[in-house]
Amino acid sequence: MIEDRHLQAQESAVGGGALPSALEPTERARYARHLLLPEVGPEGQARLKASSVLVIGAGGLGSPLLTYLAAAGVGRLGIVDPDRVELSNLQRQILFSEATVGEYKADAARRRLQQVNPLVEVVAHRRRFHGGNALDLARGWQVIVDGTDNFATRYLSNDVAVWLGVPNVYASIHRFEGQCSVFAPHLGGPCYRCLFPRPPDPGAVPSCAEAGVLGALPGLLGTLQAVETIKLLLGLGDVLIGRLLHVDTLRMRFTTIRLKRDPDCAVCGPRPRIVEPIDYDQFCGGRAAPATEPGDLALEVEARELAQWLRSDRPPLLIDVREPGEAAIASIAGARLIPLGQLEQRLDELPAERTAALVLHCKSGVRSGRALELLRRHGWRQVRHLRGGIDAWREQVDSALADY
Ligand SMILES: [Zn+2]
Repeated sequence: MIEDRHLQAQESAVGGGALPSALEPTERARYARHLLLPEVGPEGQARLKASSVLVIGAGGLGSPLLTYLAAAGVGRLGIVDPDRVELSNLQRQILFSEATVGEYKADAARRRLQQVNPLVEVVAHRRRFHGGNALDLARGWQVIVDGTDNFATRYLSNDVAVWLGVPNVYASIHRFEGQCSVFAPHLGGPCYRCLFPRPPDPGAVPSCAEAGVLGALPGLLGTLQAVETIKLLLGLGDVLIGRLLHVDTLRMRFTTIRLKRDPDCAVCGPRPRIVEPIDYDQFCGGRAAPATEPGDLALEVEARELAQWLRSDRPPLLIDVREPGEAAIASIAGARLIPLGQLEQRLDELPAERTAALVLHCKSGVRSGRALELLRRHGWRQVRHLRGGIDAWREQVDSALADY
């Protein structure tokens, strides 16, 4: 079964690459644990050797990602990163050490990767990936991996990957949570713009101050990107195309939601309106964009965060998907009641604008999660739901609410 899928997918996952050549004896020794896997074997290993991957960003995500790709024997790796190593990077960017502080990340990463595996060719660009060079830098690679976790690069790498017809492996991290997906319209999945047609209005991004992040978290997400990239190159298993994996490390929960293509997407749809690279430099001056931005694909919102948001001058529309009897016992002021069972019939009561900010809540977060999937299926892009439901609201915001 696995064998069949492996063979089938090998022809469809990613194109290009030279014909696999035979492995040298030292390669057989180095890659022995791969060769023992029937799904990889000498043929798969030779395929990796003939493969090429461009990694944008040699930071928290890029560190494990590049290390595993080099160790795995991906024949040609590209690195794009304009920054120098800083002491504060060492908390999570495990490609670097005190000895490399002050060096260009692209150079230090390249040297480290050559120590890990001298058989791999590493091309280092000490440059920012921007509208003027994105197509040139991205052309000729089989897979593009976005390891930068900022808006400007996320849109740019997405658009360029769509135009070049190659997969774009995405991840982002925020505090203790992260998410990962593979955008590949040419393989039937959505692109990033199918989900978020435009970056949020800069005014809607509350703060561009650098967000905190648990050091091991990019290690986890960057490793997931490496796994998905290697699967793409080998045509192995089910890749995260059309699915978003959300990881919550505090609760240690992994959840996936289905993602759909936007049939009228401005980049990957049949009538593209975006046909050349766009620089979204307004975000925190572009290059210094924050590690993560609130509102970015995050599916859940904490009760305290929601309370602040509702008091802001751009509050979301809050929708209560519980039953009327429950709402009569306890409800959050300003919430509009549409029980989950009626939601699909009452969509016309929601803002027609699919980018309107919506927050769904129920009692504990289960029904609102289903409602979220439903609204996303119907095209709403900026939907989140209250983590822990009204129970969490009572705990964190309004202890006067009746419990039931
Ligand atoms: Zn699209």
